[in-house]
Amino acid sequence: MRYALVTGGSRGIGRAICLSLAKDGSHVIINYNSNSTEAESTLAMIRESGGNGELMQFDVSNQESVEKALGEWQSGNAGKYIQVVVNNAGIRKDALVMWMKNEEWNDVLNTNLNSFFYITRFLIKDMLLNKFGRIINVVSLSGIKGLPGQANYSAAKGGVIAATKALAQEIAKKNVTVNAVAPGFIKTDMTKDLDEAQLKTMIPMGRFGRPEEVASAVSFLASDAASYITGSVINVNGGLYT
Ligand code: NDP
Repeated sequence: MRYALVTGGSRGIGRAICLSLAKDGSHVIINYNSNSTEAESTLAMIRESGGNGELMQFDVSNQESVEKALGEWQSGNAGKYIQVVVNNAGIRKDALVMWMKNEEWNDVLNTNLNSFFYITRFLIKDMLLNKFGRIINVVSLSGIKGLPGQANYSAAKGGVIAATKALAQEIAKKNVTVNAVAPGFIKTDMTKDLDEAQLKTMIPMGRFGRPEEVASAVSFLASDAASYITGSVINVNGGLYT
């Protein structure tokens, strides 16, 4: 039995990842920030499909909150460790740089980039000791290509991509892999304010993606089938390349 932590597992892509990893046989630890009702629904869906998991509330952007929750889990689960972590939680606060407020820059960097550091640093110790681990980061096309109006988000996701490649080389010898999945436009709460009809004309496949289409790439990277893949970024974007 593997333990898999999915940040932002209450909704959208994170929920689909929780369901997929549970189906693959992991006990899923569903992190959320404030939406306990949706997190409970994710857990209920996992149980309905024959899997199991638990909820874990913390704010990924707050180091103290991250370390308190993960520390309590460790103390309550002696002899076990989290083998798989999916750093998925994220936010966007779009603005042109000229008008961007400090808060919009800092919130997006803290939630999308610093969270990776706080969570991964905490969990890799046990992965290295046990010589097995899977770290999967949900990034974005925006972090590869850069998108106007998203300098904060592009910087954060681009930072996670670079950190993925650096960390992969640090810990490859210990059988701990670090990879990223870069979605294009996926139908979730995050994209509900976008003009889908107009944007989909730019996508070669002519449609937004589904959360499950991102989750299947994450499941693959978490599986034994991906044992020799590290430092990679898998694009899941319907052909919408740079
Ligand atoms: P949603 O807005 O649908 O869901 C966001 C999730 O992140 C929720 O579960 C939310 O928890 C959680 N979250 C947000 N802030 C925090 C925090 N501070 N601490 C803990 N959890 C938090 O987003 P998506 O499912 O669309 O996005 C998931 C990931 O995919 C993000 O990293 C996003 O940047 C990335 N992505 C999405 C794309 C898209 O088109 N949708 C495209 C490219 C990348 P709660 O419910 O408690 O608020």
